[in-house]
Amino acid sequence: MTTNSHLLALQHVSQVYTSGAKRFTAIQDVNLTLSEGEFAILLGPSGCGKSTLLRIITGLQRPTKGQVLYRGRPLQGVNPQATIVFQTFALFPWLTVMENVEVALKARGIPPKQRTARAFDLLDRVGLDGFEMAYPRELSGGMRQKVGFARAMAVEPELLCLDEPFSALDVLSAEALRGELLELWSSGNIPTRAILMVTHNIEEAVFMADRIVVMDKDPGRVVTELRVGLPHPRQRKAPEFRDMVDRVYATLAGQTQPEHVELGTAPGEPGRTRALPHITINDLAGLLEHLAERPTHRADIYRLAEELHVDSDHLLRLTEAAELLGFATIARGDITMTPLGETFAEASILARKEIFASRIRQLPTFKWLLAVLQAAHRHQLEWDVVQTALELEFPPEEAQRQLETAINWGRYTELLAYDDSGQVFYLEPGAVSSSSSATRQNGQ
Ligand code: ADP
Repeated sequence: MTTNSHLLALQHVSQVYTSGAKRFTAIQDVNLTLSEGEFAILLGPSGCGKSTLLRIITGLQRPTKGQVLYRGRPLQGVNPQATIVFQTFALFPWLTVMENVEVALKARGIPPKQRTARAFDLLDRVGLDGFEMAYPRELSGGMRQKVGFARAMAVEPELLCLDEPFSALDVLSAEALRGELLELWSSGNIPTRAILMVTHNIEEAVFMADRIVVMDKDPGRVVTELRVGLPHPRQRKAPEFRDMVDRVYATLAGQTQPEHVELGTAPGEPGRTRALPHITINDLAGLLEHLAERPTHRADIYRLAEELHVDSDHLLRLTEAAELLGFATIARGDITMTPLGETFAEASILARKEIFASRIRQLPTFKWLLAVLQAAHRHQLEWDVVQTALELEFPPEEAQRQLETAINWGRYTELLAYDDSGQVFYLEPGAVSSSSSATRQNGQ
């Protein structure tokens, strides 16, 4: 494809910020294209330059180096074809919902009569029919964000840029609004030709995008791009969806070794099963938060024991867990956070659970445990049965500790549960894979 067929092309874009005598490279040599019909995502830790890139793309800021081509022509000044929707879309509190949308139409020089009809139509399309005369303060966060979308649509942007548009919303509103945006986009009823969205949320990226551009920081740069070829509407529980999510996690974790070497094999299979390090998620989060506070995201392991007030055995288990899960790499006595570790440290409680769940699903012991429970009657197994199987790999005492850690991690991630009184493991309903939910219902 030639550059001219792209709606947008960034060529060797760098951004250096200066403060006093200091120069700071926020973005280094970014090359990025966006074609018509594409929904792309920028994914990366805080500070990797995502917002800076959006400002450069929309022409709000000129890069220090490189150029932005829009429809093959160098962008001069603000791009009138592009609009940004921010995390919290600033509505005018003294105007009604309707008037907030009309303002954008007025700015485009649309005559008053047409404005009203158009604003009604836009509000209807984002599902705000009946709320036209309400004031922003009367609306929920999700509804306010819908007004934000309607206002962005009123501008009829060819290129719609979204800066974490769902991150300030509660889970249900965010999910509903994602669905509505995808529907609006795929219906072809809007003039928008391409969407570029910034997010921290990996599942959201896989749920929505055609392409995920993975960035890292120091300096901010594009590390890789992943294509998401799944048809819409995407099913979060479908194996293809989970595989894609795992691929993104693996990319962020910077996996370098083949999985069976890195993670070990399942119990009962040839090869060594890597033991789960006995740590709590709280302690692991503490380690990652501590590393995230350092400018280099790196530390001497031996110094960490002192800094974190833990004994060295415990610290080694923590660093091992961080490595096993792809949150950090260890070399020559140093521990260095991966972009995935950074994402985890910055994530909300819910997003942390999702990240942790996705990573432990890759560990052979968990994979095996989830698979045997998936296959079991009512997705339940007694402790003794599971322990006996694990004793093929570990001495009885260690097998028992492995199971205790599995319960601890499984409960946190809501993948599996353990009933202390009946001594049975069972899969949480949310962890039962969709292909077997019919069997489960029949079995009950
Ligand atoms: P992200 O959106 O990925 O969090 P940003 O684009 O906001 O990243 O910032 C990238 C880096 O550039 C950060 O280290 C940030 O502190 C720095 N930065 C952003 N804007 C400015 C500015 N106007 N002046 C100086 N530094 C800035």
